[in-house]
Order: sequence, then structure tokens, then C-alpha cells
Amino acid sequence: MSAQAPRISFVSLGCPKALVDSERILTHLRAEGYEISKRHDGADVVIVNTCGFLDSAKAESLEAIGTAMAENGRVIVTGCMGAEPGQISDKFPDLLAITGPQQYESVVGAVHKAVPPAHKPFIDLVPEQGIKLTPRHYAYLKISEGCNNRCTFCIIPKLRGDLVSRPAADVLREAEKLVKAGVKELLVISQDTSAYGLDIKYATSVWREREVRAKFLDLSRELGELGVWVRLHYVYPYPHVDEVIPLMAEGKVLPYLDIPFQHAAPSVLKAMRRPAAQAKTLDRIHKWREICPELAIRSTFIVGFPGETDADFEELLAWLEEAKLDRVGCFRFEPVDGAAANGLADPVPQEVKDQRWHRLMQAQQAISARKLKQKVGSRIKVIVDESAGRTAKGRSMADAPEIDGAVHIQSPLPIRAGDIVTVKVDRSDAYDLFGQVG
Ligand code: SF4
Repeated sequence: MSAQAPRISFVSLGCPKALVDSERILTHLRAEGYEISKRHDGADVVIVNTCGFLDSAKAESLEAIGTAMAENGRVIVTGCMGAEPGQISDKFPDLLAITGPQQYESVVGAVHKAVPPAHKPFIDLVPEQGIKLTPRHYAYLKISEGCNNRCTFCIIPKLRGDLVSRPAADVLREAEKLVKAGVKELLVISQDTSAYGLDIKYATSVWREREVRAKFLDLSRELGELGVWVRLHYVYPYPHVDEVIPLMAEGKVLPYLDIPFQHAAPSVLKAMRRPAAQAKTLDRIHKWREICPELAIRSTFIVGFPGETDADFEELLAWLEEAKLDRVGCFRFEPVDGAAANGLADPVPQEVKDQRWHRLMQAQQAISARKLKQKVGSRIKVIVDESAGRTAKGRSMADAPEIDGAVHIQSPLPIRAGDIVTVKVDRSDAYDLFGQVG
């Protein structure tokens, strides 16, 4: 391994409420690429979630902080005792930070300050803005670490190793806790979501008194029973992905697939060594849409990959016209330290990369505008992200936070972040919708 993910050790003391906070902090950090360590020794930071309800609980909290200071020395304290920081800082003046209860955002901020997450545009699972601002009504749910693929532009397998899936019951328990804590939308992430469970041979674990396989379809089905929006990210078009489309048609999971296609020209996909590169993706997309017409597909692409010819790029544009994806992000290829693609022949000059990027974005903008126009006059469900009372900004089922479009809403009654409302769409532009609640 050429570098290690930052490691966090965590001590959680106190009541179920504090546990929910702990879970929230851990879920968030895991999604950002931090590893959770069982030992203080060797961790980059220790977080102690304290309880201050009784004197005995306070003593236990102080003891836990003392142990963390002795064994590691880089310690962040949060939880109930953090409401009176003086009690702690008198005894431990060298703590990195002290935050109060239910302040998971401040804890995450303190961790970022102590050990920043490295943001790498091709390989990060959580958008940079999303990391800082994740509101309480949605949460990223990470189902596995590492990756069995070896895409030539990516160093994740070198950094994190091969796929390690979490048992299904573990993921489901975490999801249930998040839902109990008020989360209304779960964003399922991993490097390769459709490969979930392969490494553990789809082992079963017990959840709600039944055996659940660690398999993409089974996990999606169970998550779909939790009564919240479930959005699937980083799905590769393996054949078994077809099985999840009926769940979308039934309304169990959101009719949304985030598939990082990265390219469409077979020679470029081969040079990238992409998983499922041979799949006849256009046929598959057409079939999916027959089963679930409201399916929204988002993807990302890389232009200017070494060896990408004009003809390859034209093929990509033609593919996009045919695929009519709902949401598209595009990167210009850039070498990442340690990636195999850096040594490939025929690098594409920067100005050609720029031209291709602009052409792709323009083409996709026109597709997006046409698709959104078709929604004018319809009624759609919208989850509210930010509200100023009677005006608010939210997202439809077709929009993931931070990376997709928005729905700008007017409402006769005040609405709050986290509410799910029905909106009549009056107008659209290239990326956003505008409408009224009702
Ligand atoms: S699928 Fe490819 S791009 Fe994604 S993490 Fe694995 S190796 Fe990297």
C-alpha cells in the first residue's frame, strides 16, 4: 500500500441518544474514507463521546479521556460533558477540541482539522461540498470498503485494498438507527455497490429474525422496507443490476441509478480497464426504462484519457445522445500519483481536453433541458433541503444532493428542511425545476 486512510478510534459512553450521535459521526467519517480503528494506539485521532448525567458517568468519561490522552494524545471530546467544557479542559488542557451534545457537525469539523480527508475528484464517494454540509435529513451509508477492480486511472485498490463488504445485518442496523434519528434519505455508497458481498460469498446474517444475504438485490430490498428514500450510488451495469429495477418500479427504492460509465468507446473503456466494459449498455438502459419509465440515470465521464481519439470522443457524444442520461458530470483526465494510466501512450493535449469537456457539457445541457421540460405540468415529490419558510430549495427523486439539480419551491404554508412535499412543476431550465407546493 502506498498510503493509508486516516484512522479514527472512537469511545462511546452514555445513553441511547448519545449512541445515535456516535453512529451519526461514525457513518459520516466512514463515508468520507476514514477508517475506524479498534485501538487508540496507532489511530490519527481519538474521539470520546462522553456522558455527564451522573457523577459516576462523569468519572467514567474523564477516565476514558485520560486513557485516550495517555495512549494516543490527539483527542477530541464530544457529548454531554462537552456542554460544560471547563470541567474537562481544567484536567486536560491539551485536547484538540471539545464540542457539546448533538453537535456532530462540529466533531466532524474538528476531525477534518486534525486529519483532513484527501479530496480526489475521480475517486471520492462523497462530493466535497456534501462533506461539510450534510444536513440531518440525509446520510451516506457505506456498505463496503476497497475494490476488486483495477481501473487504470484509480489508486483506490492500492490505498484501500480489495473489496471488504460489511455484513448485511450491520448495514441494516446502522440504517435503522439513522432512520430513528430522523434521516429521511439514505445514500448508499461504496466503490462498487453492485459487487457488494462478493468477497464474503454473499454470506447471510440475521436481521429482524430472518437471514439476509449480503447481496445487492437483497440489501436494496431490505433498505426499501425502512420507509425512507433509498438512493443507490456507484452501481456498475452488471447483469444482476437488472433485478433491482422492479424494486424501483414498485417504489421501494428511488428510481435512480448512479452509474459511473466514464466513457462509451470500447477502446477507451478497455484502456481504462473498466468493470462491465463489454456490457451493451444502451440496450440495458432501454430495457430498464421500459420496466421503470421514471428511472433517472446519473453518470460521470472522463474526457482526454490517454489515447482517446477524435473518433472515440465522437462515439461518446453519439452514445450520450442515444442514452439521454438525466444527470452527467464530466472530468478532464488528470494523472493521479501512482495510477497505471500515467504511463499510457498518447496523452491528450490540455486544449483538446478543454474543447472536449465543453462540447460534452454543452451537449448534455441540451439533453438535460429537454428532459426537464417534459416534467413541466406534472406533480412530483420533493425533499426539502433548505427553507426560508414559504420559499425553499429541494430535490426530486431524480436528484442526489450536491451533484444533481434542485427544485425551487413556493409554498402557501411554511415548510422545513427534511419535509417531503408534493410540488406542481411550473417551469424548468437546463438543470433545475421550479414549482408550487400543492
Ligand atoms: S471501480 Fe475502478 S474507479 Fe472505482 S474504485 Fe474500483 S478501481 Fe477505482
